[in-house]
Amino acid sequence: METKTDILKRYFGYSSFRSGQEQTIDALLDGRDTLAVMPTGAGKSLCYQIPALLGSGVTLVISPLVSLMKDQVMNLVQSGVKAAYINSSLTSEQIAVVIRRASAGQYRIIYIAPERLVSPSFQRFAANAIIDYVAIDEAHCVSKWGQDFRPAYLDIAPFIASLPKRPVVGAFTATAAKIVREDMTELLGLNDPFTIVTGFDRKNLFYEVRHPSDRSAETLRIVREFAGKSGIIYCATRKGVEEVEQMLSDHSVPAVRYHAGLDESERSRNQDDFVSDRKPVMVATNAFGMGIDKSNVSYVVHYNMPGDMESYYQEAGRAGRDGTPARCILLYGAQDMRTQLFFIEHLGEESANDEDTIAQLQELARSRLKQMYEYCFTTGCLRAFILNYFGEAAPDHCGYCGNCTRVMEQVDMTIDAQKILSCVKRAKEAWGMKVIIDTLRGSKAAKLRENGLDRLTTYGIMKDVPEQRLRDMIRFLIQEGYLASSGFEYPKLILGPKAWSVLRDRIPLTAALPQIETRQVRKEQSRKRQDQLAGTSRSGLYDRLKELRFQIAQEKGVPAFMVFTNATLADMSVKMPRTDSEFLEVSGVGERKAEEYGERFLEAIKTWIRDNS
Ligand code: ADP
Ligand code: MG
Repeated sequence: METKTDILKRYFGYSSFRSGQEQTIDALLDGRDTLAVMPTGAGKSLCYQIPALLGSGVTLVISPLVSLMKDQVMNLVQSGVKAAYINSSLTSEQIAVVIRRASAGQYRIIYIAPERLVSPSFQRFAANAIIDYVAIDEAHCVSKWGQDFRPAYLDIAPFIASLPKRPVVGAFTATAAKIVREDMTELLGLNDPFTIVTGFDRKNLFYEVRHPSDRSAETLRIVREFAGKSGIIYCATRKGVEEVEQMLSDHSVPAVRYHAGLDESERSRNQDDFVSDRKPVMVATNAFGMGIDKSNVSYVVHYNMPGDMESYYQEAGRAGRDGTPARCILLYGAQDMRTQLFFIEHLGEESANDEDTIAQLQELARSRLKQMYEYCFTTGCLRAFILNYFGEAAPDHCGYCGNCTRVMEQVDMTIDAQKILSCVKRAKEAWGMKVIIDTLRGSKAAKLRENGLDRLTTYGIMKDVPEQRLRDMIRFLIQEGYLASSGFEYPKLILGPKAWSVLRDRIPLTAALPQIETRQVRKEQSRKRQDQLAGTSRSGLYDRLKELRFQIAQEKGVPAFMVFTNATLADMSVKMPRTDSEFLEVSGVGERKAEEYGERFLEAIKTWIRDNS
């Protein structure tokens, strides 16, 4: 009898399970309904694919996105699994063919869009088939409290109930909110489900928040730093997407755009260009990415603050799915809050919800936004903030995020504090951080002139202090109670309870301020992490293998990561296999892929060893 470990090795080429996978698979194999909450990239697909391959009948996977299905099925077929999909991208003739083959028992796994469950031809098939498992991917889509409510998900429970023999049902999601979790169990009709929530810590992701004065220039800097690598830039609005994409194109960066206002053909063309690595940079609204299974994204920039931590975690989590170090940079700007509040104001306008429900949704959204805002301003560990948000305990220092790695220095801030506080006072405690900073630095902005701020005695008295440094000082003063922030929509700086000890008593003040971090330092951190995580050989062999992968991907017309992921190539360049059986030892190499690509990769390794010894 084949075991789950055999299947894992044979089809997927992995020799061990990741956290949570084994328990989830065991529960399903035991015939127990299961609800698995695991973050993006944790490996949820294997949790239903492995039981599917151990069953005798067929497994249905209900999945919300057309692109997800196509990719997953292509991936499975590449690994030697008989699979197919049914969704709106197929013609009715094509669907008829799939159903005919399915009825003849030719598939182990069928992906299907929820809307298709109710079609008569599919129902006829389902009524006569032996369905072992129904896996519901992105199961949070059933809840209207989640981010991606999909009404057709409500048809899933009745569909399952209509089957002659009830299959075992597994529901999978990355959304942890309690209210959504309850909805999933109830609305999907899960039967006393085994529930598992696994770690949200993505150890290879470096989280960072920046408050640049010029986001556009900052974005360009980041994109150049990662030149040639794959990255996603998320903007809050379509207009933002247009502008950023234009800016990058003007600087000859090969980028594509994606938002709901583009027509279908441009969207799928741009997506293909990005997924296949023809265009390394994707500029998009949050309409892009759900179900995109691209594993070699090296960085995700948020050009704006998103509306909540769930969205942020999900979107940022599209970086580094192959396990190699990747960066998640959030660029905060003062207008972001207003944009998000505007969205909340108009929330539910297009839905059929009654007023009470809308008011409730808005309240939920506001409290989520508040936490997102706190993330942007915390000086504590960003990883700890995220994990705590998702209900997980975490040490308060991870050593690998923008806040933990800032080198602090002790600074005498006595005079600077007096300058800042007196500026806040003279500006009548009526302005936000940005205006105060501009005033202190003597900016020529019209807003200052129009409001007479350029006539304050404190105008321009901190000309030589970099903006970032001033911001850090102000944050320190807030944290220590010398300043405070009032109001949510337009937060104003006001004097804090301890202000007078500085203004009147002139007490000496020492602060620990972050040193301005250099790019070099960041690069070194990333390298260190790389070695920590994988023990990766950074040799020329890795690059050679990447070239070969690219060549093969071109020949076959599939995205490079479907041949092998970066993590697999990295492991290959460390293990340097010489024989077929050694080749199978590489993580991510299954039987099918070994057969298909083994010879060429082994040859390349042999040549490389010869040329380099
Ligand atoms: P999710 O659906 O949870 O976001 P996926 O199922 O798409 O994640 O898996 C993400 C990546 O992790 C894929 O490239 C997959 O091949 C890989 N992966 C899954 N399980 C394992 C494992 N046990 N060992 C190594 N890699 C794995
Ligand atoms: Mg998934």
